[in-house]
Amino acid sequence: MKKLTPDDQRNLDLRTRLVHAGRDPSEQHGFVNTPIYRGSTVLYPTMDDVLNRRGRYSYGTKGTPTIESLETAWTQLAGAAGSVLLPSGLAAIAIALQTCLKAGDHLLVTDSVYRPTREFCEGLLKRFGVETTYFDPALGAAVESLFRPNTTAILTEAPGSQSFEMQDVPAIAEVAHRRGLCVLMDNTWATPIFFPPHERGVDIAIEAGTKYLSGGSDLLMGLVSANAEWFPRLRQTFDLIAPCAGPEDAFLCLRGIRTMALRLKEHEKQALDMARWLEARPEVHQVLHPALESHPGHALWKRDFSGSSGLFSVLLKPASRTQVAALLDDLKLFGMGYSWGGFESLVIPFDCSTYRTATTWSPPGPALRFHIGLESLDDLKADLAAGFERMRKVV
Ligand SMILES: *Cc1c(COP(=O)(O)O)cnc(C)c1O
Repeated sequence: MKKLTPDDQRNLDLRTRLVHAGRDPSEQHGFVNTPIYRGSTVLYPTMDDVLNRRGRYSYGTKGTPTIESLETAWTQLAGAAGSVLLPSGLAAIAIALQTCLKAGDHLLVTDSVYRPTREFCEGLLKRFGVETTYFDPALGAAVESLFRPNTTAILTEAPGSQSFEMQDVPAIAEVAHRRGLCVLMDNTWATPIFFPPHERGVDIAIEAGTKYLSGGSDLLMGLVSANAEWFPRLRQTFDLIAPCAGPEDAFLCLRGIRTMALRLKEHEKQALDMARWLEARPEVHQVLHPALESHPGHALWKRDFSGSSGLFSVLLKPASRTQVAALLDDLKLFGMGYSWGGFESLVIPFDCSTYRTATTWSPPGPALRFHIGLESLDDLKADLAAGFERMRKVV
């Protein structure tokens, strides 16, 4: 077998790249996968090598073959200049923001952002002298009106992972770049498989690998990729803190990346079918799924995304807390839990009304977020239909 050159890699179809990225059996005695390297100390053969820091690896925090395999694979998938791995998605958000901010800066963040990101901005960035303003995700290029002389970065997320507002990321990137801002995006929902972030103008892209890269609800992982302009700064920031991901988790993510396109396609098909089924239910007021024609962000999704994942939300018609509990508590196939992206179906009630600052969240009834897993759709629908029946019987 001949080695793939970087040029070969670039010309290959996504599915082929996912199988080969970050893997070099000739360096692993012919074994297909890069094994788990555990290690802190790296030994140098001579004093001269020590003094000149010669050698591919220098210290556990600076990289291992396992960590490098996943970084390389992710860089290729994201179409980036480089990537770093973090022990969680939230840590990835933190390092991405620390890469482009300093005391005295002003940061713009979409009001639909993953809630712990907002808590990081308010709880930590504020202490370090960075002020955050939240913007209406529907603004698009008009977000320019919120730029101040000290605005240095803008964080987007499309769609919002509870409320599913879309954002015109290319238009935001264009006005932001005209003013020299760094454009960040939490791309966890689509992954680079459905939204190539750097091609669309994003400088620094964040992925919670905890979700679809793992695909098994069995690990935590964060990935940050950056374009050529920002990668040196990202790597430097990472090296100053050394928030290293675990080698076993990196190994499991390498296993996950090989089947990621396949799994996502199935989640997409299942979730769309389920979203349409829910849209037709009498208990449902609205389904928030950008790939549905009824979604206000559908045109943006169609223009910029090549697919949709397994996560979407549903706004119910007015119902009491007891009624919603009757629906959720006795489900047999849908678990209630906050993470997602694994093989299993999930549902969780949520309410964004208490913390939004740029937009209001006031649906007519309770809101539920679904993740559709790989189970049989007939079984899943029967489970939900029984739940709606229980809900109807509560007076
Ligand atoms: C889950 C999630 C994260 C954080 O990932 P963790 O690994 O759980 O810290 C960040 N952004 C989005 C959109 C997420 O869904």
